[in-house]
Amino acid sequence: MATIIQNGTLVTTSEIFKADLKVDNGKISMISDKIHDDKNDTVIDATNKYILPGLIDAHAHLAIEGTLDDFESGTKAAASGGITTLINFTDPEKSQSFVEDLYDWKNKAKSSLIDYGFHSIINKCNKDVLKQIPKLVDEGVTSIKLFTAYKENMVNDEELYLLMKEAKKAGVVVNVHCENGKIIDQLIEEALENEDTDPIYHAYTRPPAAEAEATSRVLRIAEITGAPTYIVHISCEEALKEFTRAKERGVTAFGETCPQYLVLNESYLKMKKEEAVKYICSPPLRKEKDQEVLWEGIEKGTISTIGSDHASHPYIGGKEKGIDNFTKAPNGLPGIENTLLLLYNFGVIKGNITLSQLVKVTSENPAKIFGLHPKKGSLSIGSDGDLVIFDPNASNIITKETQKQRTEYNVYESMEVQGKIDHVLSRGEVIVENGEVIDNPGRGEYIYRKKFKFLKNAEQEPEKNELLSNR
Ligand SMILES: [Zn+2]
Repeated sequence: MATIIQNGTLVTTSEIFKADLKVDNGKISMISDKIHDDKNDTVIDATNKYILPGLIDAHAHLAIEGTLDDFESGTKAAASGGITTLINFTDPEKSQSFVEDLYDWKNKAKSSLIDYGFHSIINKCNKDVLKQIPKLVDEGVTSIKLFTAYKENMVNDEELYLLMKEAKKAGVVVNVHCENGKIIDQLIEEALENEDTDPIYHAYTRPPAAEAEATSRVLRIAEITGAPTYIVHISCEEALKEFTRAKERGVTAFGETCPQYLVLNESYLKMKKEEAVKYICSPPLRKEKDQEVLWEGIEKGTISTIGSDHASHPYIGGKEKGIDNFTKAPNGLPGIENTLLLLYNFGVIKGNITLSQLVKVTSENPAKIFGLHPKKGSLSIGSDGDLVIFDPNASNIITKETQKQRTEYNVYESMEVQGKIDHVLSRGEVIVENGEVIDNPGRGEYIYRKKFKFLKNAEQEPEKNELLSNR
């Protein structure tokens, strides 16, 4: 039994064209002007609708301590927003090995509706830790994440160097959160001494220079080690400039930004305190000029991907703690289900990017960088039937009243948006029908991801790297 989507408009990274598409045994088996259906086939009519490859969210924090979304609710929310593959971060306990930590997380993810993988957070470095990196690769984890901020997770320059060197050897992509944590801690201390405790001081104590400095330093260490390096959530012009310079030098670097940095800005942190605390995330929301620069970065192909950075901290017992002291608010925003609609409206409709560019940064690029391609991220014969049927003519209001994520609020509350996610298919199976998620926790599969591959001669001539030259 196959599923045939008829009369739709397919969107790939290079073209947009009308065609029928057939999924057989979970894989795309045919794309043609007209595909006739058999009695047993499921037929979906997609007249006047776009068919996109399912989104890959390579940056999510489902099921971390203190948050509301576990894998069941979080992947349901993700699916309703067109996401068919998720790469979640682990959260290591100090006593565990990182492989044990991964097993814990695979257990937590058993209720996932969509396919998933993990990036292992590595928050220390010694000989034993270095030995664990190839073991993670054997487990299908071909990316790690390091931090240059947050006391509990921060690694120093020497540790960055050693971990990156090992990652390069193992074919592992190194995600890095780039902010200078030591300087930020100093600025926070000074702010609290001056009783500057309002939410806006969260932004003032994490200035763009602190992000740019760490970005530049990390990418210089990447240059020395040759490790493929993925800078998560680039939020401002200063950091993007450092990133662009490194790329121009030939460093194998990939950049990510998030919808919140493209759509929201610092003014949200200046609202009344009770409201403003909801918007505390790190790096903080920046200025409007930064938004313009980030859109430009996507348009030019400098920024490779968009991740949600979803973290579903509750308001009650969570965000509200920061009302009178911004340092007490947990960092991070919910929004896993809003990525596609936000990018379509603020990106495509406003003319900042094309629909094909949207597909590239939300699907094809994350698949290529994180060892999922061509299984994921492509409307090609043989790829998984992970599809979004998107109705550009319908409209929608983003609101907590209808969201699937469990937070009591939505940071995009009451935004009117054009477009609706009609159907979502995962390996050919309909998981969202007419906008409604079909409950089926546990159907998602763990994906063993491939090692990062430098293309031929890429190490000698990194600019030949397919992703880097693909602009
Ligand atoms: Zn994050």
